[in-house]
Amino acid sequence: MTTLLIAEHDHASLKDVTNKALTAAAQLGAPVDVLVAGENAGGAAEAAAKLKGVAKVLLADSPAYAHDLAEPLAALIRSLAPGYDAFVAPATSRFKNVMPRVAALLDVMQVSEIIKVVAPDTFERPIYAGNAIQTVKSRDAKKVITVRTSTFAATGDGGSAPVEAVAAAADPGLSSFVGEAVAKNNRPELSSARIIVSGGRGMRSRANFTKYLEPLADKLGAGVGASRAAVDAGYAPNDWQVGQTGKVVAPDLYIAIGISGAIQHLAGMKDSKVIVAINKDGDAPIFQVADYGLVADLYQAVPELTEELGKL
Ligand code: FAD
Repeated sequence: MTTLLIAEHDHASLKDVTNKALTAAAQLGAPVDVLVAGENAGGAAEAAAKLKGVAKVLLADSPAYAHDLAEPLAALIRSLAPGYDAFVAPATSRFKNVMPRVAALLDVMQVSEIIKVVAPDTFERPIYAGNAIQTVKSRDAKKVITVRTSTFAATGDGGSAPVEAVAAAADPGLSSFVGEAVAKNNRPELSSARIIVSGGRGMRSRANFTKYLEPLADKLGAGVGASRAAVDAGYAPNDWQVGQTGKVVAPDLYIAIGISGAIQHLAGMKDSKVIVAINKDGDAPIFQVADYGLVADLYQAVPELTEELGKL
């Protein structure tokens, strides 16, 4: 019995979600190998080798894995399948694309977004936008699992696993890289930010995000999020969306500004440790989950808050 954890990385370094998914993978009770597939990804492989509890790192270094194409990566994981009983990956956008393909290639069911390992074949996962927890028992001989990393602590360093090169798998030829537009952002990524400041429809414009929300985020060293209404209205880019159809986050502090607290938004942030809401409507549902609520006009309250923080 061995588990293969597929690493999320940027080639040079590992993403924090990998360390968190490792915690879940280790709870399956079998030795855990880590697969790093990328181009010039030696840095990420070295980082994986240092993680506590990793038995071995497999490094597939090839131009085929330079651009996160799902089909070649799924084929690589399929080629490694004979040696493994479980395949675990963080439930990121990348692996939501890759892992269902792996499950299909292996003809097994994927167990998606687990939040708890009950036993090596039994897992808990949220359903109905987080309103119910389902316990899933999989009888498949090979398990394909994605992990909701916001509910697992990161594994620390302390290991010294060997790094072994593995050959690239034959490219299925189903996709090719055309180009990419990378959004530049100096703020912490939403999935790993300790503090998130999020704006909703109440922000009324893109300019108001820049004028009111971003200075507050800068003061706090926070990531910036948004409701779907704000994204749909063009006030915020798509990758800022928090919620059922956006990112699921659990920072230490989540500040919701001009967000009503629809169930689909709560599904993405209600596990945050401390929730602060600023809304002019005292009956807004966001106040039911907020630890601290301020019934106020955001255009007055947010600049005041930013100014006070500047004095600290
Ligand atoms: P609103 O509900 O319009 O709330 C705006 C709030 O701003 C109000 O509470 C108002 O009192 C407050 N406000 C206005 N002006 C001010 C002011 N000057 N000062 C202070 N407060 C002010 N939504 C998500 O966010 N994420 C998702 O992933 C998501 N997925 C969805 C998936 C499905 C299948 C569906 C059907 C919906 C989904 N939604 C999602 C949409 C969700 O149902 C809500 O429509 C959305 O979250 C509302 O966003 P909002 O709170 O910004 O807007």
